[in-house]
Amino acid sequence: VDLDLHGDPALRRPASEAEEHLLRRGREHEAQIVGVLDYPEPVYERGDFATGAERTRDLMAAGFRGVSQGVLLEGRRLGIPDLLRREPGASEFGDWHYVVGDVKSSSRARADQVLQVAFYSRVLAATQGRQPAYAFLILKDGSEQRVDLADYGPIAEDVEARVLRIADASEDPDCGEDRRPFRSRACASCHWFPVCTAELEAKDDLSLLAGMTRGLRRMLEAAGVRSARDLADVQIEALARATRIEAPWLRRLKRASQARIERQPLAEPRNRQKPLDPSALVHLLADPFEQRVLWLGVLVPDGSGRHLREAMPACVEEELPAFLELVAGLDPNRRLLHYGEQLPRWFDECGGTRRDPGCETRFVDLARRLRGAASWPGPVFGLDDLVALGLGRDPNRVGEALAASAWHADGDLARIRRKGHADLEDLAALKARWLDDGPGGTWT
Ligand code: SF4
Repeated sequence: VDLDLHGDPALRRPASEAEEHLLRRGREHEAQIVGVLDYPEPVYERGDFATGAERTRDLMAAGFRGVSQGVLLEGRRLGIPDLLRREPGASEFGDWHYVVGDVKSSSRARADQVLQVAFYSRVLAATQGRQPAYAFLILKDGSEQRVDLADYGPIAEDVEARVLRIADASEDPDCGEDRRPFRSRACASCHWFPVCTAELEAKDDLSLLAGMTRGLRRMLEAAGVRSARDLADVQIEALARATRIEAPWLRRLKRASQARIERQPLAEPRNRQKPLDPSALVHLLADPFEQRVLWLGVLVPDGSGRHLREAMPACVEEELPAFLELVAGLDPNRRLLHYGEQLPRWFDECGGTRRDPGCETRFVDLARRLRGAASWPGPVFGLDDLVALGLGRDPNRVGEALAASAWHADGDLARIRRKGHADLEDLAALKARWLDDGPGGTWT
């Protein structure tokens, strides 16, 4: 929010191929939903929001069934919801009032989307002189999810107050904390990434350490530990007493600080778990918008090296049979190693658990094992971070997994396959380097 209001837009990173594709599909989806409703839109010159708000009021006062892309403007608060829908119940317009709706391309409502419509509803309440009881989100499948505004009133009020303090560039210390970057999972998909990275690196910020949280950073800074490097020299017991942070946590953070100083992962052999072999690596690439699997792959070691099997299901119905066929010829004792929740969740959702319960019991998620295998020289949020930090490779050298749907739309199936192969190669290399008994194991 701070950078959106006060930052230099020229410093934002451009949208990636995958992001452009998702945005385009989102816009098409919105146009499809809104087009069917056939609500009028306020007419105004681009950027002239005062006129837009006046025209929107005129449409609401005239009692139209709904308004598309209406402008809500009250003081400094501006909102342009996709939909305003008429409901019975008095407002300053007459015996009716309006509720706010927004069209989303996600399959479930997210917290930021709920806050967005809660904010629009607060502005609308001032415009129509009546608090709407609910707002709604139209999700990817066209279903409507209602948001009971009574449940979200206090949090929406708090967030709005914080945003307004940021807009005023308030010197209030609480606001200062809101305005500071913190390296998190969200950063990878944020267009301000280069700006924040430069600031965090320049300050050697504590959030650049694996395992750091905002709360821990606050406590450590209050105790005088202000940079990642400071942490490398601390006395654990004394710092634990001063901060009340548990000593094992501090030990882990101190190791992460040492890894950051050395610019390489520090192996943690004590965290090694039982050997995983015999095993095979399994992976999938999906189109999250269509909720379809585009590519499935299994990498199997055999006597002469590695053997890759793959499938590109043509439709949803083909996905599960294709996967079961890929693993059918494997020794049933062979465990199926994968990264993260995507594969088991897909397997369960498409009925695999019912159809082949034995298969599911062979799944082993490598995520926790890999995270615990070393103290990493930077935060680890997903496979991409492990590939970059643990192998020194660009995890997106073939492209981002999110772009697979764009390649599919362009008919570039070869690139989807190349991406799947590269991901499986990375998983195999991570296993060999960090989980097997050192370099030279089964997979190298
Ligand atoms: S890069 Fe990260 S810290 Fe910076 S604005 Fe984006 S999400 Fe926030």
